[in-house]
Amino acid sequence: MDYAALALDIDEGAQLDAGSALEILRAPDSELLDLVTAASALRRRHFGHRVKLNYLVNLKSGLCQENCSYCSQALGSTAPIVKYSWLAQDEAVHQAEAGIAGGAARVCLVASGRGPLPRDVERVSGIAAQLRQQYPDLEVCACLGLLKDGQAERLAESGVDAYNHNINTAESFHDEIVTTHSYQDRLATIARVKRAGVSPCSGLIVGMGESDEQVVEALFALRELGSESIPINFLVPFDGTPMEGRWDLTPVQCLKIVALARLTCPSTEIRLAGGRETHLRSLQGLALHVANSMFLGDYLTAEGQAAAADLELIHDNGFTIEGEQRPLDAVDHRPRVRGRGAGTGLSPNA
Ligand code: SF4
Repeated sequence: MDYAALALDIDEGAQLDAGSALEILRAPDSELLDLVTAASALRRRHFGHRVKLNYLVNLKSGLCQENCSYCSQALGSTAPIVKYSWLAQDEAVHQAEAGIAGGAARVCLVASGRGPLPRDVERVSGIAAQLRQQYPDLEVCACLGLLKDGQAERLAESGVDAYNHNINTAESFHDEIVTTHSYQDRLATIARVKRAGVSPCSGLIVGMGESDEQVVEALFALRELGSESIPINFLVPFDGTPMEGRWDLTPVQCLKIVALARLTCPSTEIRLAGGRETHLRSLQGLALHVANSMFLGDYLTAEGQAAAADLELIHDNGFTIEGEQRPLDAVDHRPRVRGRGAGTGLSPNA
């Protein structure tokens, strides 16, 4: 395939079709750099050399009654995770500040569970309002599960800019991974978010046993939905979940999926999310030439060393952080000697 010509057509307004999308996922590995070069041209056109950093604050962990088979917090999961009920507002703001200090432009306030009670919406609204008051330029995203009428509007009033609710996978595969809620339930929440004027953030998890056709189906659905930010999660198959032992992905395949997302949605924020370290491994730098956004540090905890490694990854690849003032040549490229924090996980409600 002539990837450069394809990117040019897309830049001029053409939409990627399903046949070409499948061809990209099945491209010979020897064509990887040509594919990345074409996708990165679109990335640079819309986002320059900037990387947007996002930071997760896990407001409530575990204790969920849903049966999402990829999730360590699901009903029936025996994965050894930390479980706690809602963080106090001060603690949540304090945790968010660690991400803001690291350069995060967006803080994602995440809670496990099917969806929020009215009092939960009030808790999150309080945290969002305080963050927006103290950091007027900060974007605040909430990720609380399925919403009921009026809840997106209340979050918007308090200063929530975006709401994350992933479709996770293709409609044709959805019921294989969860049965306590439907794909249509997910679409209904995304519709509520859009009606409230909140920016819809919706993405997917790959590596759960879906076919190539279903990866394409999911990405094309996100294009149709108008998701303004697309997190791509790579399955971390936690022991104690139905996905235990499922390691279907290779780094090259992950990179092809990221490139496919860029070619499908050329001007949309594409975010490297859960599992990127484990699955992209040494290709994370190349993936940043296609994706323009990532989570800073860990997903369920906030370890300083992991965040430092992420900042190094960004600068080593010649990027600047969105909102960062310093020019490229002012970036400190001297090596640092230190340990490397580990650990990753999918966000709740992923
Ligand atoms: S993804 Fe969300 S809704 Fe599903 S089991 Fe995990 S915490 Fe519960």
